[in-house]
Amino acid sequence: MSATDQISIRVEPTKESRLSQVDFNNLKFGQIMSDHMLVAEYNDGEWTDISIQPYGDIAVSPSMSALHYGQAIFEGIKGYKFENGTVSIFRPDKNWERFNKSASRLQMPEVPEDIFLGGLKKLLDIDRNWIPSKEGTALYIRPFMFATEAALGVHPSISYKFIIITCPVGAYYSKPISLKVETHYTRAAEGGVGFSKNAGNYALSLYPTQLANDEGYDQIMWTDSAGHKYIEEAGTANLIFRIGDTIITPHGDTILHGVTRRTIMELAEKWGYKTEQRKVSVEELIEGIKNGTVTEAFAAGTAATITHIDRIGFHGQDYTLPPVEGREFSLKVLDYLNQLRYGKIEDPFGWNF
Ligand code: PMP
Repeated sequence: MSATDQISIRVEPTKESRLSQVDFNNLKFGQIMSDHMLVAEYNDGEWTDISIQPYGDIAVSPSMSALHYGQAIFEGIKGYKFENGTVSIFRPDKNWERFNKSASRLQMPEVPEDIFLGGLKKLLDIDRNWIPSKEGTALYIRPFMFATEAALGVHPSISYKFIIITCPVGAYYSKPISLKVETHYTRAAEGGVGFSKNAGNYALSLYPTQLANDEGYDQIMWTDSAGHKYIEEAGTANLIFRIGDTIITPHGDTILHGVTRRTIMELAEKWGYKTEQRKVSVEELIEGIKNGTVTEAFAAGTAATITHIDRIGFHGQDYTLPPVEGREFSLKVLDYLNQLRYGKIEDPFGWNF
């Protein structure tokens, strides 16, 4: 891949690293940020003033348009450290592409490759000591962009900030989760912004998710807005099922096209499984659980890679999935990706950047 260092990035190193204060054996997700951040400004139609500077507060105007009209998008990526010290980022080119799709849909400027990928490379080089190396740990990378024009009035902002911050994260083991099939609230509609990773998609999920939590479920299984008949995705992850001998994932532009989902479907194909990206109805899933043809169900996303699903609630009735021990496909995927991302096996796909 050709992420270049052509653009000029001003580096202002921190005078006082916080690294020695961090307990790497006890990392809580998203709490402690690495020493530096990348910041780029968009003004008058171009990206300017790109810098890597000490992580810290930024000043914004109370009339800044992102706060009022929601032009705000982000990404989530992970970086890993191999035993030999090599630093690798997992498929960040796919996040860069998705970021720019989100940007276009929200009438925001695209971020060029040399700022997004080139800047990321430089940032991780500077903060490489923040990348934990123990198996299961990673550096979580959060690129984001928001509208900074200091003026009220609904129109595309004339200025933006693009920032990348990072934080070390501990080994992420997640126990199997339960999902409530959502049949009232909607995450996304045809023609809407479901495929984009914009802040509003997360704000709208909080209330229905709290209701699901109150009923004893970990997350929501979103369904289509038109009739709540077809499965879309889970809270912050895509859904993949093994039904009969086929690995199936819902598709369409009302869901976020996850990098993990894409990776897993590509692996399934390579390994000779039958794969399908198509509409999956709630009825097909429930019938399949009842008659035993649904043998695996999991959520796929950057945070945990794979989170097994053990229970699905639909109209007040619970349906239990087969035990995790027998889930041959998802366990194989998890093992393979764990080895690949820490450089323990060859990388035939060129996924390690
Ligand atoms: N759907 C949603 C709504 C998400 O927030 C995420 C996490 N980014 C995903 C799916 C999974 O995407 P990825 O595999 O790229 O992390």
